[in-house]
Amino acid sequence: MSATPAATPDTPVDTDCIFCKIAAGELDVPLVYEDDYVVAFDDISPQAPVHTLIIPKQHVVNLTDKPDPELLGHIFGAVHEVARRKGIDESGYRIVQNNGVDAGQTVFHLHVHVLGGRELMVGMA
Ligand code: 5GP
Ligand code: ZN
Repeated sequence: MSATPAATPDTPVDTDCIFCKIAAGELDVPLVYEDDYVVAFDDISPQAPVHTLIIPKQHVVNLTDKPDPELLGHIFGAVHEVARRKGIDESGYRIVQNNGVDAGQTVFHLHVHVLGGRELMVGMA
């Protein structure tokens, strides 16, 4: 069990972070899903017919930041609902989550990619 308090909608943001701005509603980005802890929106450069990102409202860089497991539960708990809203819950979907430079992380605010809408390439890396 982590000693870190659970994330709330009032948790800190990084004012230079593009995903914090999206989570705060400062940019005109249509949301696929929102609850008290996370928002989901379509990737600006989709790599599949469905490519949606789920992010915490709290600024967390990646898993190396050791986010509260409860927060991770909220992120992963949103995956199926996002897939359902995008119409890929029955056909199948993949989630990808990059941590750090070698993984190809380019936006340093924790996010999960939800990919689907066609048969995806076999292989992970
Ligand atoms: P990463 O490579 O860090 O795992 O993924 C970052 C993702 O964020 C990329 O797929 C990129 O296309 C997406 N992205 C970067 N900036 C923006 C933005 O301003 N809006 C949206 N919707 N997606 C973005
Ligand atoms: Zn951020």
